[in-house]
Amino acid sequence: MATRTVAIFSLGGTIAMTTDPATGGVVPALSAHELLAAVPALRDLDVELRVHDFRRLPGASLGFDDLDALSDALAEAFRTGCDGAVVTQGTDTIEETAYLLDLRHPGEQPIVVTGAMRNPTLPGADGPANVHAAVIAAAAPELTGAGAVVVLGDEIHAARHVRKSHSTSPAAFTSPATGPLGGLYEGRVHLHGPLAPRTTFAGPSTGRAARVGLYTATLGDDGTLLAAMAEACDGLVIAAFGVGHVPEGFVGILERAATRIPVVLAGRIGNGPVLQGTYGFPGSERDLLSRGLIRAGHLDGYKARLLLHHLLGQGRSTAEIAASFGTEAH
Ligand code: ASP
Repeated sequence: MATRTVAIFSLGGTIAMTTDPATGGVVPALSAHELLAAVPALRDLDVELRVHDFRRLPGASLGFDDLDALSDALAEAFRTGCDGAVVTQGTDTIEETAYLLDLRHPGEQPIVVTGAMRNPTLPGADGPANVHAAVIAAAAPELTGAGAVVVLGDEIHAARHVRKSHSTSPAAFTSPATGPLGGLYEGRVHLHGPLAPRTTFAGPSTGRAARVGLYTATLGDDGTLLAAMAEACDGLVIAAFGVGHVPEGFVGILERAATRIPVVLAGRIGNGPVLQGTYGFPGSERDLLSRGLIRAGHLDGYKARLLLHHLLGQGRSTAEIAASFGTEAH
């Protein structure tokens, strides 16, 4: 009997793609069992695998319903004795799905999300090595309490910090603000330091599908499109310039929106925080925060959108949402 048990959920993505004779392009087609069959080295690990062929979708077509179902299935796997879990999926949305899974998982068992940058028909396809590394990571006691992590290219990244930073490179995943948590060397996990404490926001959902907009500030924008988007949203994240700055013409639109819905001030850079007390001009971080916007701190716009979506789905008030961002965004 194996010492550790790991659940595997395959969702599709490049890692599971083969050539579609109808179009000549690659599409997600491989089952979870087919993915694992390409990694004979898994048989040498002291790990029992519980395999779930969950979805066969490109990363771009995963939705909140898929993630709700996956969170429930992961919780069930952990209830029934799995020591960790691996999720294989398209790399396009890994930085988002991993963070959402992390927010919802208060347990100690690691959830390891992986994928591939080169599909199985290409020389040097990285899927098998990534699956092998992900299973080792999911079974590793060193990752107990790590929440959701992303493993690609033998690096381990915290869900909260990881970004897809290149469109094709097998080394596409980075954690710009912190670097990786650790790596895999000769089949073992090595952490570069102690795991940081993490905040989770598990709890019942109201089932309400909140619509949260993410709007990026850009040079010369007069705010017309921002105003239209704000009208259609239950919550809004503004991905601002630099440390949290927007064109002056955005100020009234954002202030009005913040009287109706939570409006979160995040940065568009993806590395470094939104500040709170340095600049004082109209459209600066001080100005916007004084008008009721909620500071995303170190969370990038994509992750701030997911946290806001999650909290709205739990029926949280704007004051509660601001408090939660205060905890998570330090
Ligand atoms: N477009 C692909 C996807 O996310 C990319 C990948 O998996 O690497 O499904």
